[in-house]
Amino acid sequence: MSEDCLFCKFIVRDIEPDVVAESELALAFRDINPQAPTHVLVIPKKHVATAAELGEHPGDLAAVVALAAQVAQDEGLGAGYRLVTNTGADAGQSVFHCHFHLLGGRTMAWPPG
Ligand code: 5GP
Repeated sequence: MSEDCLFCKFIVRDIEPDVVAESELALAFRDINPQAPTHVLVIPKKHVATAAELGEHPGDLAAVVALAAQVAQDEGLGAGYRLVTNTGADAGQSVFHCHFHLLGGRTMAWPPG
């Protein structure tokens, strides 16, 4: 846990997010500014800043991807979904607790801007 991290506060429920699923190692909650009919953030409970750091913890990475797949199934996204993580400021990362955006419920454009 990092004292001044918003998403760590979600994990310990100092602040209550709109949780959709949880596992031992990961938490999924709805994004406050949704960009698709389903826009859920899936995070490791371990505080790591970026996906690059999460790669050093394969069990936590697997837990995040598995929870995202469970949420996609629960949300009826059988036709497809996007799982994306912004890594670093140039990529648009604004919250430095690693998170994966699970987006679905509409057709996705490619490439992203
Ligand atoms: P990033 O820009 O780091 O890839 O994504 C950060 C995401 O966190 C954004 O999609 C933003 O809407 C979301 N976010 C920022 N603050 C909050 C909050 O207080 N609650 C929730 N649920 N999402 C947030």
